[in-house]
Formats: sequence, structure tokens, C-alpha cells
Amino acid sequence: MPPTTKFYLLFLCINYMTYDKISWVKYMNLLDKYLVKCEICPNKCGINRFETMGVCKAGTLLKIALASLHHWEEPCISGEAGSGTVFFSHCNLQCVFCQNYKISQGDLGREIRIEELAEEYLALQNKGALNINLVSATHYIPQVAASLKIALEKGLTIPIVYNTNGYETIEGLSLLKGLIDVYLPDLKYYDDKYAIDYSRAKDYFNFATQAILEMYRQVGAPVYDEDGIIKRGLMIRHLLLPGLQEDSKNVLKWIRDNLPIEIPISLMAQYTPVYKAINMENINRRITEEEYDNVIDYFFEIGLEHGLAQDYSSATTYYTPEWE
Ligand code: SF4
Repeated sequence: MPPTTKFYLLFLCINYMTYDKISWVKYMNLLDKYLVKCEICPNKCGINRFETMGVCKAGTLLKIALASLHHWEEPCISGEAGSGTVFFSHCNLQCVFCQNYKISQGDLGREIRIEELAEEYLALQNKGALNINLVSATHYIPQVAASLKIALEKGLTIPIVYNTNGYETIEGLSLLKGLIDVYLPDLKYYDDKYAIDYSRAKDYFNFATQAILEMYRQVGAPVYDEDGIIKRGLMIRHLLLPGLQEDSKNVLKWIRDNLPIEIPISLMAQYTPVYKAINMENINRRITEEEYDNVIDYFFEIGLEHGLAQDYSSATTYYTPEWE
């Protein structure tokens, strides 16, 4: 073999090893620090995820159920082209009415390395996605932060949307600072009684509201492009549940009292009883049109201005992805 060829092969080999080593070191550092005693979310299980599972049942490897273009988010997220949505398996809440319960509380999904997830983002960008939409990634924040850093180095330019149930810690969110462009949190409950009964979450309102204020500190009020697609900022979602109009009104009142008027609120009417909710007397029905209208009227009565309302007919499982 001529000397030049040997040199070329050796160079390739070193280059490959260096790349792999850097990625692995980053990965190990994150796992060591945050997963050996996991307190990423408010459940603060304190367990070693290399050895056992906490409330979320997530291990140390990332697991995703789907990465595809999604057209059924709010128009300022999905637009015409679609949102590049990554659905993560497992969840730190255990909502009895979860439409995606097969992936959030079942075990559906495929394990994926952080470098591979970065490639998924880039593939979605190449397919024309308007943004990367991370759905329920709380329990994977360290690995997701690493995947975003790799993708950004490799040319990811579209906005990153962090789509969350709101049950977050400030420490967890601090790992995402500078990486997330749009925060899309739920504010599900005002009264913790409902958070415990329906999502098995202690102190939900306190954690979710502190998290939302941190999200606002990181990204501010929304900025839209010329087509009305959100490029940066905070938008809050609230799903109306049957019989909980007063709780919904308290949620709206907190938003009005604690955040600027420009923060949009997406009021969702799509609740459909599925999973354990089918057998729960208080929530085994859709919300009524009167309940929905009542909350929308209150939205305007208290001086809120920026919001999105779902068509009442969206209360169907038609918009839920098929996980099989
Ligand atoms: S991320 Fe999972 S293991 Fe870690 S504290 Fe939350 S629920 Fe527990």
C-alpha cells in the first residue's frame, strides 16, 4: 500500500473515533449527572435510571414513538407545510384521559441514540417542516438538549417548539435555555385536587406556573413571521374538562394576572373520554357546547385578548395518531 493511502485511512479512522468519543463523552456526562439520581421533573424520584425506573418509566436511552410532519396543531404552529413533530415515549404525568396513553403509559416506541435523533430533526427540516415540535420530552431533557446541540451544529435552522404538560422544574428548563424558541406548555389545572385525581401530580399548579414564568423569561412574548407562523415566544394551552369550568376560569385569571396580554391562550375543546376516563363518572363524557362557550365568554369578560378557540366538533379521536 502506498504511504499516502495509509495516511488517508489513518486520518479517517482518527476522525471517526474523535467524533464518536466526543458524542459519547457528552452523552455520558449528561447521563451521569442527571440520570444517576433523577430529579429532572417535579416527581423527583431520586432513582438511578441505569438500574431502575421512576414514575415516568423512562430508561436512559431516548425512546420515540413517531417523528413526522403533523398538521393538526394550532395554525401558527402547523401552518400549511406541517410541524416536524417528535412524540416521545413515556411521560412524567399519568393522565387518566391521555389520548396518547399507548405511548405515554404503555411501552410503544423505539429506542434511539442522541445522534440519531439529531438526524431525525434534520430529516424533518429537509421535508419542509416549519419547526421541530418536541412533544412531552420532559423526562428526556438532558438527552434532548444534547441532540439539539448536535443538530444545530449540523445545520438545523427551523424553530424548536417545546410542547409540554407543564409539570417541569426550573432546573430542568435551565438545560434548555438558548435551545428552545417556542414554549407551548399546558396549564391543566388550578386546583391540585384535580391534578392528583386525574394526572397523579402533586403540587401541579405551583410547579406549572413557576415553569411558565421561567419559559416567559427565556423566550418572551410571541413573534410571528409574515405568514403568521410563530418563530419565538410563549403560548399556553388549556384543555377544558367536563364539569371544570370554574377551574378553567381560575386558570385564565392566573394568566391574566401574571403574564402580558400578548401571550396567546389556546382553549381546547377536544376532550374525549378514553383510557381510564371511560370508567370515571365525572369525566366520562365530552364537554358540552354550553360549557365551552361559558369559558370563552369569561375569557373576554376578564379582558383577555389573544387566544385560539378550537371548533367544538374537534372533540373526536379522529385527530389522535394511530400508534399501532
Ligand atoms: S424524569 Fe422520570 S425518573 Fe426522573 S424525576 Fe421525573 S418521573 Fe422521576
